[in-house]
Amino acid sequence: MTIDNNQRLFERARTVIPGGVNSPVRAFKAVGGTPRFITRAQGAYFWDANDQRYIDYIGSWGPMILGHGHPAVVEAVQKAVTEGFSYGAPTEREIELAEAILALVPSMEMVRLVSSGTEAAMSALRLARGATGRKHIIKFEGCYHGHADALLVKAGSGLATFGHPTSGGVPPEAVQHTIVLEYNNVAQLEEAFALHGNDMACLMIEAIAGNMNFVRATPEFARRCRELCTQHGALLVFDEVMTGFRVGLHGAQGVLGITPDLTVLGKVIGGGMPLAAFGGPRAIMEQLAPIGAVYQAGTLSGNPVATACGLATLTEIAKPGFYEALSAKTRTLVEGLKSAADAEGVPFSVASEGGMFGFFLFDELPQNYATVMTTDNARFNTLFHGLLDRGVYIAPALYEAGFVSAAHSDADIAATIEAARQIFKTLAAH
Ligand SMILES: *Cc1c(COP(=O)(O)O)cnc(C)c1O
Repeated sequence: MTIDNNQRLFERARTVIPGGVNSPVRAFKAVGGTPRFITRAQGAYFWDANDQRYIDYIGSWGPMILGHGHPAVVEAVQKAVTEGFSYGAPTEREIELAEAILALVPSMEMVRLVSSGTEAAMSALRLARGATGRKHIIKFEGCYHGHADALLVKAGSGLATFGHPTSGGVPPEAVQHTIVLEYNNVAQLEEAFALHGNDMACLMIEAIAGNMNFVRATPEFARRCRELCTQHGALLVFDEVMTGFRVGLHGAQGVLGITPDLTVLGKVIGGGMPLAAFGGPRAIMEQLAPIGAVYQAGTLSGNPVATACGLATLTEIAKPGFYEALSAKTRTLVEGLKSAADAEGVPFSVASEGGMFGFFLFDELPQNYATVMTTDNARFNTLFHGLLDRGVYIAPALYEAGFVSAAHSDADIAATIEAARQIFKTLAAH
């Protein structure tokens, strides 16, 4: 028997890193089996420690929208590295990246750069509370905003009540001002504002949710979020860490035609480097230190290598026709998967926007987290491992979205659909 290098590395990793991974979903816990240890990537592919090639549909969970190793991005990063890794003093490139972001996201007049989506969402939350002088926040079940204490919370027992921590190490007091509501439930939203509206600091939402697979806010729900925030003086915060520059050049806010007060960005804006941001109107953003009373800081914030990578990435995606081509490619993929499933009589539904997609082993697209979670795990795992064995790497959990990059070719898409067709035959037989 040949040695499985992934297995060997996984065993070694587990002795020194909890669970062998530095972010939980990488461990394949939901789907079982051995996580693939990646050795290199190029274009639409990465290779594991056994030198097996995969068509990559996670793209580092979103950032790699140009595919791996885009020449213009590599060049920008290489140049930046020779000029120094980090200074702890401001640079012109931070201004350039800020200007590039603001030019593409009209709801933002000012932006602050940080290093991770978690940090950006946590800081936006603090700013919303500081700017309004209020405590309560709304989040929705199935939306993920990073792992800050106040946001790691599951729904309370009653309608529009405060939630409970979903993680050890989070005291109930840390989530006592967090109201967790069902996504796309207008009645619950209205009730929460009726009960707590005058102490509501903000409502944070993934307006196209990518952390419960792929679920869109209905137009009415998104509109009511905006209206109720305005009416009650709360800030509407769009967490676009995943959707920003991924579902379209102007994010989910551009797709939905809704203007949030604050926007949280990450993933694509770093092009694969640790970089994230939050921003909004000048009057709110100027409440941040050093000019305002809301403290926020970071040793590596606006890092010169990360900003070079982000800026080069934004330059490429802002070119005319980029999102049209990416959307068409993503649609070809999901429509192909759908017809392959239909042909075998496997219940299947798909959704996509820009370079982001989701699919479900149901006839109808779910509207909320509870429905997503009724997916048959065993069937999803058959699909996941079947694809993996055929050199197609999708997210190793059914509650994650998928990502297509500009580097995916028609042949990659066709090969993926063909691999799925073979597994649908197996699923249909059971
Ligand atoms: C990934 C993600 C985050 C967290 O970003 P990290 O960089 O992993 O900390 C926050 N919000 C959303 C919507 C995300 O998809």
